[in-house]
Amino acid sequence: MNPWIAKAVVLAATVVMMAIRGPHGHRSRRVKVAKSHKSPLETGLLVFAWVGFFVPLIWVASPAFWFAEYPLRTGPLVAGVMCLVIGLWLFYRSHADLGTNWSITLEVREGHRLITQGVYRRVRHPMYSALALYSIGQALVIPNWVAGLSNLVAFGVLLALRIGAEERMMAQQFGNDYAAYTARTKRLIPRVW
Ligand code: SAH
Repeated sequence: MNPWIAKAVVLAATVVMMAIRGPHGHRSRRVKVAKSHKSPLETGLLVFAWVGFFVPLIWVASPAFWFAEYPLRTGPLVAGVMCLVIGLWLFYRSHADLGTNWSITLEVREGHRLITQGVYRRVRHPMYSALALYSIGQALVIPNWVAGLSNLVAFGVLLALRIGAEERMMAQQFGNDYAAYTARTKRLIPRVW
């Protein structure tokens, strides 16, 4: 199958993702940060995540990763598109529910509220679940070992090293309310983990 189909899918998904994040990011940045927990590790993780995000776009626009290509097949393409669509829906919903409490890094904003409703009712990190689905979708859609796996690896590392620190920050900020929320929810997958 023509790899341009995969390129069109990757491009469209990226545009949708940026269209969701853009206005929410703009709105959140207008609310002052009360306390930043951003560490040098966190800065490194963000740079790594940005690289992982851009590598698929380099693949779309150039033959840079020609040596890692393999044939595109219908099964993984269809499964990948489904992961991307569900991931983008969840990405949209989690931004809508989190509102101006969102930050790209570990921060508490002025008047920060603990959100436990909407897609936050059953999992504590639906936005990370969305990004995991998105990364898996890209890995399935992109018929290239480098570009296909870049987001999955970068986001996997970010997730593994951030999720504990984020939960410690939230527990420090919201005390018993966060403990109760943790007791009744899972991290990424409802009822599983
Ligand atoms: N981990 C969450 C949010 C990602 S954005 C998710 O995957 O959906 C990261 C910021 O969101 C953190 O800096 C923290 O300030 C904020 N945050 C995380 N969980 C929150 C919650 N339940 N309610 C309010 N803010 C939250």
